Amino acid sequence: MNRKLKIILAVSGVIIIPVLVSPKPVFRMPFSTVVEASDGSLLGARIADDGQWRFPGFSMVPDKFEKSLLTFEDRYFYFHPGINPVSIVRALANNIKAGDIVSGGSTITMQVARISGGNKPRTYGEKIVEILSSLKLELFHSKKSILLMYTANAPFGGNTVGLEAAAWRYTGKSSASLTWAEAAVLAILPNSPGLVFPGKNQEILKNRRDNLLRQLCKRKYIDSLTLALALDEPVPVEPKPLPSKAPHLSDYFYIRNKGERIRTTIDQTLQERATEIINSHQKDLSENHIFNSACLIEDVKSGNVLVYVGNSTLEETRVHGGDVNIVPALRSTGSILKPILYAAMQHSGDILPNSLVADVPTRFPGFSPKNFDQTYSGAVTAGTALSQSLNIPAVKMLQKYNPERFLDLLRRTGFNTFGKSADYYGLSLILGGGETSLWDLTGVYASLSRVLNRYINEKKYYKEDYHSPILVTQENSTKEKTEESDPPLSASSIWLTYEALQKVNRPLSETGWQYFSSAPDLAWKTGTSYGFRDGWAIGTTPEYVIGVWAGNADGEGRPGLTGISAAAPIMFDLVNMMRTGPWFSIPYEDITMIRVCSKSGFRAGPDCPETTEIPACINGLRSETCPYHKIIHLNESKTFQVTSDCYSPEDIINVPWFILSPSMEYFYRQKHPEYKSLPPVAPGCMASKNIPVMDFIYPEEGIKIFIPRDQTGLLTKVVAEVAHRNPSKKIFWHLDEIYTGTTRFVHQIEIVAGPGKHVLTVVDEDGNRIRCGFTIQ
Ligand SMILES: [Zn+2]
Repeated sequence: MNRKLKIILAVSGVIIIPVLVSPKPVFRMPFSTVVEASDGSLLGARIADDGQWRFPGFSMVPDKFEKSLLTFEDRYFYFHPGINPVSIVRALANNIKAGDIVSGGSTITMQVARISGGNKPRTYGEKIVEILSSLKLELFHSKKSILLMYTANAPFGGNTVGLEAAAWRYTGKSSASLTWAEAAVLAILPNSPGLVFPGKNQEILKNRRDNLLRQLCKRKYIDSLTLALALDEPVPVEPKPLPSKAPHLSDYFYIRNKGERIRTTIDQTLQERATEIINSHQKDLSENHIFNSACLIEDVKSGNVLVYVGNSTLEETRVHGGDVNIVPALRSTGSILKPILYAAMQHSGDILPNSLVADVPTRFPGFSPKNFDQTYSGAVTAGTALSQSLNIPAVKMLQKYNPERFLDLLRRTGFNTFGKSADYYGLSLILGGGETSLWDLTGVYASLSRVLNRYINEKKYYKEDYHSPILVTQENSTKEKTEESDPPLSASSIWLTYEALQKVNRPLSETGWQYFSSAPDLAWKTGTSYGFRDGWAIGTTPEYVIGVWAGNADGEGRPGLTGISAAAPIMFDLVNMMRTGPWFSIPYEDITMIRVCSKSGFRAGPDCPETTEIPACINGLRSETCPYHKIIHLNESKTFQVTSDCYSPEDIINVPWFILSPSMEYFYRQKHPEYKSLPPVAPGCMASKNIPVMDFIYPEEGIKIFIPRDQTGLLTKVVAEVAHRNPSKKIFWHLDEIYTGTTRFVHQIEIVAGPGKHVLTVVDEDGNRIRCGFTIQ
C-alpha cells in the first residue's frame, strides 16, 4: 500500500475512530404531562417523574428564540462542525491565564453533548469527550435537530427544563408567543439560571438582556422601534405557577397519557367561565353540605368536549372530595333516563305523545315505586308524565316496553355503564336502579341531537353519529360513513321527546323559577337519585349538550339535593354562557299525522266522540286504539245503565262514555271534577260484563313472587289489594277457592300461600267477580 495513503488513513483513524466510539448524546429523561386547550394554550401540567418541569412534544424552535440564542451563544452555529476552534483556543488561553476553567468556549452542539452527559464537572477530560461527542452529533444529526435538542433540554433554573416549560413559568405563555424581550431573557437563562430571582441579580439580567437586544438590532433582526419597546419591558422576577384551568382533566391524562403532550378539544375561555360558574354555585351548595359539582359541555356537530369541569376547584371543598373527578364517576341515574324511554316508545309505536298512562298505587314484588310528591293522578298523558317526571307512569311504561329491550336500546345509543342483566335492574332501572356517568349521559344526548340534525339536513341515519364525547383533537378523518337502516331511535322520536322536554314542568313548590325564565330554547331534564344523593341536569340545543351533576363525592345524601334545585341552576347559567341559534326544525319526512282521541291521546277509535290530529312517529299508526271510550246503554233519562233484558230496547240510549279502570278512576276523578262516573245499574238489571267494577292493584295476573322467610323461618305475608269503583261495596276474598276474608273501603288483605301456583278470586256484594293467577317461588 502506498505509504502516503497509509499515513492519511492512520491520521483519519486517529480522529474518526474516537469520534465513532465516543458516547452518542441521547435524551432519555421523563417528561411532564402537558394538557393543552384546542388553541394550544396550556390548561395544566403534571411534573415529570424526576421532579422536573420538562415539556414533551417539541418540534420547532421559535424564530425569536433561535435568533436570540445564536446571537448570544453561538453565532457560527450553522457554519462550524460542532466545535469552534477559535473560541476553544481563546477559552483555553483564558483558563490557563486564570489557572482554572472559567470559560467553556462551548458551541450549542457541545452544550447538547454536555447536558445529555448529565452536566458532569468541568474537567479537561470531560471537555475532550464533549468535543468528540459533538463531532459525532454533527455527523448524525442536522443542525436544526441539534438546536431542537438544546431547546428542549436546556436547564432554565430550578426544576425548569426546556424552553416551553420555561416560557410558561417565566412569561405565562407558550414559547410560540414570546416577545423579543422575553426570547432574549430565555436565551440568556440557561447559562446563568440564578439571575431570575428578586434582588440585585435583576439588574444584571436586565443589562445582559438589553445588550443582547441591541446586538439583535445591530444584526438587523429587529428595528429600532422594536428595540426601544423591548428595552422597556420588565424582566421576570420569579417563576410563576403553571396554569391549572382543568385540574381534574390534567389528572385524567396524567393517569392515561403520562409524559405526553395532549392537545384537547377544550375551549379555554369557556372552560374558565364554566369553572367560575360551578364555583360560584358551589359556594351556595356547600352551605347545605353539598360539596361537589361537575359539568361537561359537548359540541353536537363535532362531538368535541368544550368544557370539562371534573369538580369545583374551590379551596374549601378540597377536603370534601374536591379532588375527585366526577365526570367519569358512576352514579345512580335517578330519572335522567326517562326521556330515552319516552323516545323509544314513540319510535316503536307503543304509545303516542299524549297517550294516557296509569298513575295509581303500584306494587311489584319487592318494589313499590312512588311519585316524588307521593300523590297519584289516576292517569296522565305520557308527555306530562315525562315533563313532571312521574315515577309510576314511567315504571308502567317500562313494563309495557320491556326492561330487556330498553337495556338493549340504552346500549345501542351509547351508554356503556349498564353491565348487568335486565333481571338485575328490573323495572327500577327507569328510576335510578342503574348507574351512569356524566360522560356517557352527555355523550348520548349529543348523539341524539346529532342524529336529529343529520336527519333534518340529509334525511339519513349514520351509525357513526352515535359516539362518545371526543376529548383529544383528531386528525381530520375521512372515514367512510355507514348508513343505518334500523336506527335505535328515529328522528321523529327524538324530536317529539325534545318537544316534550322543552315544556319541562316548573313545579310551583320550587322557588326561584323566574330565574330560569330567561333561558333560551332548551330541551332539558333533571334527575334525583334515591336518598337525595345525586342531582342531575341535562339540556340540549341543536348546537350543544350541557350535563351537570351535583352532590357529594362520598355519596352522602342531603335533604334538598335534587336535580332541580342543585344541578338545574348551574345548567341554566351554562346555557346562558353559550351562544345558541334556532331550535331544531321539524323532521317532516319522518313524521306522520295521526288522528287521536282528544280525551285519551290514543289513536282514535270508532267510539271516541272528539278527535284531533297530531304529529307522531310513523310506527304510531300501529299503536293501540283508544281503550277508554265504550258505548254504554242508558235508560231514557240517562240515570241508569240498562240492558235489553231488563229495558225496552227501543228506549235504550247508546252513549259513548269515557271509562277508566276502577283504580285509575278513583284517583283521576279527584283531580278531574269533569270526570263522569258511570251511572248505576238499574235495579233488576245485570251490569255489563265489558266494564269491570274492580281491578287488582296487587298481585298482577301472571306475576312471579319471591317470598323471603322471616327470622323464625316463616314465610312473610303477601298483601293483596283491589280497587273498586264504589269502595263502600263489600268484597269477599278467596284464595284457591277458600274464603279468606271480607273488606270494605280499604280493599287490602294479607294472604299466606306456599310455593306454587295460586288463584285469588274476589267477589263483590253485587256478584261481580275478578280473578288473578300468580306463582309463589
Ligand atoms: Zn277515546
